[in-house]
Amino acid sequence: VCTLIIVTGLPTSGKTTRARQLYAYLESRIGSSSSSVSPDSLSNSPPPQQAEPQQQSQPPSQPTSPPSTPQLQTKTTTSPHYRLHYISDTTLSISRTVYDLSPENLPAHVRSANALEKDARAAVYAAVKRVLSPRDIVVLDGLNYIKGWRYQLFCEAKNARTASCVLQVGCSVDRARGVNEGRLKRQEEKRAKKEKATEDAASSAEAEAADGKPADDDPEQEPYTPSNWENLVFRYEEPNAMTRWDSPLFTLVWDDDEAQTRQVFAQIWDAVAGEGAAKRVIRP
Ligand code: ADP
Ligand code: MG
Repeated sequence: VCTLIIVTGLPTSGKTTRARQLYAYLESRIGSSSSSVSPDSLSNSPPPQQAEPQQQSQPPSQPTSPPSTPQLQTKTTTSPHYRLHYISDTTLSISRTVYDLSPENLPAHVRSANALEKDARAAVYAAVKRVLSPRDIVVLDGLNYIKGWRYQLFCEAKNARTASCVLQVGCSVDRARGVNEGRLKRQEEKRAKKEKATEDAASSAEAEAADGKPADDDPEQEPYTPSNWENLVFRYEEPNAMTRWDSPLFTLVWDDDEAQTRQVFAQIWDAVAGEGAAKRVIRP
């Protein structure tokens, strides 16, 4: 049974896109594997403090779509057999800047460039650890680019009497870079627009109205600075299916169509529930 699914890939390579698709897929599978009761309840609440065995206080809510809203938070879906969780940097409010090792981009009070990223990893680790169990399926969306980090997660899964698997999101460096450049450009345009609006507003009575608006920035669309992005690609440690901690290893590439995607997701579902589910039935 592999209930921790570690998504990994280059920055802006499509990890979140695939993680959301996988979440939706698993959600429908755990929904249909529970013949007895309860449609899935989606709670948009902060991460569950502890694993509470299927308390269904909420009525069936929202379509079973993956976390697609801009302000997505750690998500949990509960069925009689499984709870499904989505954890990412965004759900934990971890900014892209924590990966930036260039000293000139550091806030003055920070001990060292690495410290921010270490703290971020500790937060992810805690969030995963809090929910991990053989009944809790965790989609961990993130760079997860350090071999030793994936090893740590692998060990933690074992500790929780479950196992981990890795979903590698494959994408050429050039395409991924293009995505980040597109986001940088959009961010720049937005900033320019905002500045202009502020200037215009300053000379009119609408100044306050414009000022009072909260920024509608989607953290999911936040670009990496070019140096941060390039450095992350440089540091990226490809998963290796020959190692225990990177296996089973599943791969999806950018151009994989829906049929191929579903096939890989079905394999992941088998790794999560196939054998494990059978064992559970047999066991007295
Ligand atoms: P990451 O989470 O790795 O930073 P995202 O999932 O946010 O990457 O994807 C970045 C952009 O690329 C998004 O705008 C998304 O729509 C697009 N994208 C990602 N994967 C694909 C794909 N397989 N086919 C087409 N577009 C994709
Ligand atoms: Mg992402």
